[in-house]
Amino acid sequence: MSKVHVFNAGPCLLPQVVYDKAVEAIKDFAGTGVSVLSISHRTKEWDAVMDGTRALWKELLNIPDDYEVIFLGGGASLEFLYVPMNFLEKKAAYVDTGVWAHKAFKEAKGLGNAVEIASSSDKNYSYIPKGYEIPADADYLHITTNNTIYGTELKEDIDCPVPLIADMSSDIMSRPVDVSKYTMIYGGAQKNVGPAGVIFAIIKKSALGKVSRYIPTMLDYRTHIDKLSMFNTPPVFSIYVMYETLKWIKSMGGVEAVHAMNEKKAATLYGEIDRNPLFVGTAAVEDRSIMNVCFVMAPGKESLQDEFLAFAKSKGMIGLKGHRSVGGFRASIYNACTQEDVEALVACMQEFEKMHA
Ligand SMILES: *Cc1c(COP(=O)(O)O)cnc(C)c1O
Repeated sequence: MSKVHVFNAGPCLLPQVVYDKAVEAIKDFAGTGVSVLSISHRTKEWDAVMDGTRALWKELLNIPDDYEVIFLGGGASLEFLYVPMNFLEKKAAYVDTGVWAHKAFKEAKGLGNAVEIASSSDKNYSYIPKGYEIPADADYLHITTNNTIYGTELKEDIDCPVPLIADMSSDIMSRPVDVSKYTMIYGGAQKNVGPAGVIFAIIKKSALGKVSRYIPTMLDYRTHIDKLSMFNTPPVFSIYVMYETLKWIKSMGGVEAVHAMNEKKAATLYGEIDRNPLFVGTAAVEDRSIMNVCFVMAPGKESLQDEFLAFAKSKGMIGLKGHRSVGGFRASIYNACTQEDVEALVACMQEFEKMHA
C-alpha cells in the first residue's frame, strides 16, 4: 500500500508508536500473559495504568491540586447532560459557536433555565463571538473552544466572572491551558488524545455539590471522583491507548512543544490556502483553528470541488471532505499529523493549481 496521509476529523490519527504499543498489549499486557482486552480491571497492573494516566494528565496540563481528572464512557455528547446535572441550579449561560455547542445548550435547557448569550449562527459559525456580556447570576458559562466542524478556535483562556466550563474535545493537549481559569474542562478522547470510547473531565472538586436536584449515581461526577473512575468497569482498552498517547506527547517535549509543531503545520496549510488562487478559507482569519482547517474552492472554481477531492485521494489524502454543513474541504491536523503530512497536502494543492492554470 502506498503512503497515506490521514486528515480524519475523529476518530483521529494516532502516532505509529501508539498503534504498536496497542498491538503489543492486545497480545500480552504488561508481561501478564493476558491480553489487555481480557485483564481484570481490579489488578495492580491495571491500577498502574489508571494512576499513570491520571498523573500524566496532571503533569502535561499542570492541573492544580483542587482538581481531579476522570475517565468515563458515553461520548462527549453525554457530558452535555452531565454538565447541567452537576452544575445547573438557577441559570446557565452558553455561547453558541456551532452544532456541538448548541447540542450542549439543548441538554441544559431540558434540565432548567439556560440561555444562549451569544451566537455566530448568522454567518454559519465562521467566527467566534466577542464582546458579549456574561450574566453575573449564571451558575456557569459554557464554551466550546474548538469548533471541529467549522474550523474556528478560541485560542486563549478567557477571564470569566462566573465558573467557566469548556468542551475541549478537539483541541485538548494541542496547546498549554491555564486550567485554574476553568471550573471544568471536558471532551471525548478521539479527537486528539486517544481512540473513541473514553471521555475525560477535569473538574474543580470544590465546585461540586451545589445543586439541589437528585443526581442519578452514574451521572454524578462525585461518584467517579470518589472511585477514581473505577466505580464500574472503565473503558479499559481506550484508556490504555490514551495512556500511550499521553506518553508520546510527553516524549515529544510536552504540550508546549506539540503546540509549536501545531502552529507550524497550521501556518503552512493556511499559507497555501491564502496563496493558491483556487482555494479560500472559510473561517474568520483571527479565529482560525490550528486543529481543523476548513477551506472551499475559490469563487468561480466551485465546479472543481469533486475533481480536487478525487485528485487528492489519488495522492493518498484521506478524510478531506468537509462536513456537510460547511461543504468543501476540512483537513484535521491534530497532534499526530506531521509537518510532512501537511506538506504532502500542500504539494497536492500546488499540483492541482498547475493542472488548472
Ligand atoms: C466530536 C465532538 C463532540 C461529540 O463527541 P462524541 O464523543 O461523538 O459524543 C462534542 N464536542 C466537540 C467539540 C466535538 O468535536
